[in-house]
Amino acid sequence: MARDRLLQQAAQLFEHRFGRAPVSVVAAPGRVNLIGEHTDYNDGFVLPMAIDRYVAAAVGPRSDRVLRVFSSEFQQMREISLEALERRTTASPERRSGRGGWFGYLAGVAWAMLTAGHRLRGADVSLVSDLPVGAGLSSSAALELAIARALAETSDIPWDPRTFALMAQRAEHEFAGVACGIMDQLSVAASREDCALLIDCRSLETRDIPLPPDARIVVFDSGVRRELASSAYNDRRAACERVVAALRRRYSWVHALRDADDALLADVAHDVDPLDLRRAAHVIAENRRPLELANAFACNDLQRAGRLMMHSHASLRDLYEVSSPQLDTLVDLALEQPGCTGARLTGAGFAGCIIALVEAGSVERVMSSVEIGYEERQRRQTTAFVCRPSGGASLFSTASTP
Ligand code: ADP
Ligand code: MG
Repeated sequence: MARDRLLQQAAQLFEHRFGRAPVSVVAAPGRVNLIGEHTDYNDGFVLPMAIDRYVAAAVGPRSDRVLRVFSSEFQQMREISLEALERRTTASPERRSGRGGWFGYLAGVAWAMLTAGHRLRGADVSLVSDLPVGAGLSSSAALELAIARALAETSDIPWDPRTFALMAQRAEHEFAGVACGIMDQLSVAASREDCALLIDCRSLETRDIPLPPDARIVVFDSGVRRELASSAYNDRRAACERVVAALRRRYSWVHALRDADDALLADVAHDVDPLDLRRAAHVIAENRRPLELANAFACNDLQRAGRLMMHSHASLRDLYEVSSPQLDTLVDLALEQPGCTGARLTGAGFAGCIIALVEAGSVERVMSSVEIGYEERQRRQTTAFVCRPSGGASLFSTASTP
């Protein structure tokens, strides 16, 4: 199994870099979002699925209070004193700018754990991954939850997916400067094997949603990475907040777009910028889709499930304006293939990946047709793979990784 191989690689890398055997190995999955895009920071519903691609970490304790990490992705060793981290109380401008690079996420998680009152021991950590970085499959949340799980283990802190998801989200806010919602971290922390995870982002209640037996989720990576995605993301968030402020002037009980519907939005249409209105219209319609998709899955109705995905993509493209020509091409190509019932961009958008909902018997054909078509229409290569629903960040025995 690919995950076992990755765990083995993490353990071998640990031995090579630190000259001893690790005490534990952990794997934290990436995720695709099946539906409910840009609804999480509006207190709404999302339906992500953790996937069978991971950031794996091997960890061993140290006698001092230093956190030292080697990432094979970046071929780099970084370290930080936990005592120095403990003394930091607020996010400095330097940390906000995300200048810490990849290590900033890890320092951020350690900082969030310390700030929550946990006593952390020093640790050595090696990291390997088969998740593409910056592709919208949430390698950042996988990294955060992998280190959280590893540090919880070496410091004897009981694991609770929801609590650690919130700490990882805090780390991403403070250190990476991305005002992300809770979807990525919670799905990476709390997903159950073979299920997608329906999340109510207000209450943080979750429900496991099994996928229909014949349904396959295929990822197509556009190969495009957008550097300025985080500022565009924060812009969208600000637009939602402006509409909420306008709604609240009339309806004091509205705290987030989750509380609004089309009629309420029509009431404030003249008080807000037309562009902001379109952003809010996307969120309000999209917020109904996670429950609808869960129902379609429960009825084994891949046609209805696929239509919901198509509507979601059109709304992200036309109202929320977070698609791109490459993502649109991939979606169009997927929808042209028999056996593909729906497709949409996944993750925040602007670049990265799409997902296609495909009947099991059609997967190979859909993949090769889309690959050929993408090359023809965009003069680019797409990397395609089928992903299966995976459990959340987990600890494995080192005995299984000889
Ligand atoms: P995404 O979460 O969609 O992959 P982000 O930009 O949110 O994209 O996160 C990517 C960042 O996460 C990378 O730039 C890097 O800093 C960090 N990261 C991801 N995987 C690893 C890894 N294996 N080792 C070190 N850092 C990683
Ligand atoms: Mg991310």
